[in-house]
Amino acid sequence: MSPAAAPMSQKPLGLFPPKDFWDSLPPPPLPTYVCDGGLVVRSKVTDKHRKVPRECDCWHCRVHGPRLKQQWADHLDEMLCQADEDGLSLFLASIPPTPCAWAAFRRLLARHGASGRYGRLRFDEGCLVVTTAPVGRPVSLDEARAVLARAVAALPFDRRISSGRAWKLPPKPPSEWEVVDELTEEAAAQVEDRLAAVGIVVEDDGTWIPPAEWVEDSWLYIDFLKYLRGEGPPPPRNTLGACPSPDPWPR
Ligand SMILES: [Zn+2]
Repeated sequence: MSPAAAPMSQKPLGLFPPKDFWDSLPPPPLPTYVCDGGLVVRSKVTDKHRKVPRECDCWHCRVHGPRLKQQWADHLDEMLCQADEDGLSLFLASIPPTPCAWAAFRRLLARHGASGRYGRLRFDEGCLVVTTAPVGRPVSLDEARAVLARAVAALPFDRRISSGRAWKLPPKPPSEWEVVDELTEEAAAQVEDRLAAVGIVVEDDGTWIPPAEWVEDSWLYIDFLKYLRGEGPPPPRNTLGACPSPDPWPR
């Protein structure tokens, strides 16, 4: 290292690198990994079941990586509009891609009372930070939104977007469905055939209800899920004590 070169952490914050480097980056290649298979989910309210695609929520997945990216892009865009509506100014800063530069920058954000209001895109070349703290370059709402949209699009899938507390992604709304089993791609493709083979009707909305005696008896239920996975025979129907409905002998 030449004596003139200052360590990264001593470079002026908010000024590195000087150009909008993300505009010159080639579009990132799509991830090669694809999550496959499916999930068996069961309603918490009724005995309805469904097969749904697996939700890996993974940046490295070809299906969910782009979806996650879009979710972040939409969310941060909303945060920028909200901040503008609240009368806050917006700033863009680029900082070196080193932990100590980031630590110093976070202290700066905290000093300006905006530690929770920032979004950060981590590139190999540096981090882009959009924030309401007066650090970096002041920008209009339109410019902030446009730069962020371009930068998110240029972000490789092995990099990350993160945010401060106030700009966190909202939690997923509670679902009526809970996961009861996982299926391989092969098993997921055969679920409908297996259900038909034991006389279970799949409704138009994709839901189906297993026989009551299978749902009520945990051992039979486990056998049923195993059968759907292709790992065993279906459980017996109408076992001792179970009565076919409707009651054939009305009193
Ligand atoms: Zn996935």
